Amino acid sequence: MTKIDYKKLEEKLTCVRKNAWEEMSDKEKKDALQFSEGYKIFLNNAKTERESVREGIIIAQKMGFKNIADLKTLKTGDKIYAINRDKNILFAVIGKNLAQDGFNLVMSHIDNPHLDLKVNPLYEDSGLAYFKTHYYGGIKKYQWPTIPLALHGVVMLANGKKIEITIGEKEDDPIFMITDLLPHLGKDQLRKTLEEGVTAEELNVVIGSFPIADKKIKEKIKLAVLELLNKEYGITESDFISSEINIVAASKARDLGFDRSLIAAFGHDDRVCAYTALRALLDGKNQQRAQLCLWVDREEIGSEGNTSAQSVWLENIIALILEKTGQPADFRNVYQIMEKSQAISADVTAAFDADYKEVHDARNVAYVGCGVALERYTGHRGKSSTSEASAEYTQKLRSIFDAQKIIWQTGGLGKVDFGGGGTIAMFLAKRNMDVVDMGVGVLNMHAPMEIVSKADVYQAYRAYKAFLEKIF
Ligand code: MN
Ligand code: MN
Repeated sequence: MTKIDYKKLEEKLTCVRKNAWEEMSDKEKKDALQFSEGYKIFLNNAKTERESVREGIIIAQKMGFKNIADLKTLKTGDKIYAINRDKNILFAVIGKNLAQDGFNLVMSHIDNPHLDLKVNPLYEDSGLAYFKTHYYGGIKKYQWPTIPLALHGVVMLANGKKIEITIGEKEDDPIFMITDLLPHLGKDQLRKTLEEGVTAEELNVVIGSFPIADKKIKEKIKLAVLELLNKEYGITESDFISSEINIVAASKARDLGFDRSLIAAFGHDDRVCAYTALRALLDGKNQQRAQLCLWVDREEIGSEGNTSAQSVWLENIIALILEKTGQPADFRNVYQIMEKSQAISADVTAAFDADYKEVHDARNVAYVGCGVALERYTGHRGKSSTSEASAEYTQKLRSIFDAQKIIWQTGGLGKVDFGGGGTIAMFLAKRNMDVVDMGVGVLNMHAPMEIVSKADVYQAYRAYKAFLEKIF
């Protein structure tokens, strides 16, 4: 009787999550660490959707990508980008026959949770000048007081001039801050829940305390701030009405841990997928089938808006590409192409947090350092507000990743009925495309500093590249 080798049988039959660092060769580990250096530079240069678009263009132009608006016709292998209102961008490599073959698309979002200035933000109270804010996206409000903050954004002056502002990032820049109560007087506050301890209307940012020297003026500190802003940028108080100023954490992306294996930064969600997807497109080989990398805005508030995943701008750009490649650009054609196309919704997922084990299903959650995470659905309760990748499509993707020895795992956002969250996959599914979520596991998601593993960042890049190069 032959003895069964159960060790071999176990390897063959069971599905085991592996640590990416253990699986990677020395060369791949080196490549992963090297790759993350470029990612950190991108994080530091791009903290808002507008800045992401700007930085994406700089990176793509270096690799020969051209603005579609400057090209009369397009042919196979052409590398282009198209911009929507400076906050939403499509990068593409033109394939042989878009109408016949469809395309491979990786879509990610470049907005992230932060604080916006209110429309009338500036006021003075008890010796300090402040900005009033309105939070954008899902934040835990208690995380925002007492940390250094920076302002990023644009102000449209009454005369139509656009002023771009970034204050708080350079070493010698001033920073801004929301105050919190000292513990000595925090007895009542500390009894409140974390949800109620700091309220939205308490997220007011200190911006100055220097009064102008004129006894006749009532709000001397507010006027002094306005005088400064006017001297520097030509801004008057009414100009805030036509501004978009984001308040973000004034911090640089930093290596985390003695071994530098992790990155702590503001806005990994979802720049980690946006950057890796763009790099995958730039380094990809396939020119047979069109490859698209789409960065959308407004995911964190439900993808409402003309620069979001729900915007028909995507249809318009596909029609424009058809037109410039000499193919019929009617909308029936556009939707038939989408039907033939495959997509990855590249978004982050919750990584298992050992301090909060009770919220995760330990068998169905992504772990930091175990590779890029594939998620067939997200949503809430009984799979509401989510699409779901089919068994057939999931199988195709498995085979691509396994053939290239990409280290990947499955992910899932918490135990059933414990909460949940949506991604933009369902907006591509609505267009009848094959789509699945795939991205990097994040610790502290939506906090002013989030954590990812360099191994996972690199495996996401490899997975997106393998997907974009695939001829379906
Ligand atoms: Mn996200
Ligand atoms: Mn998010």
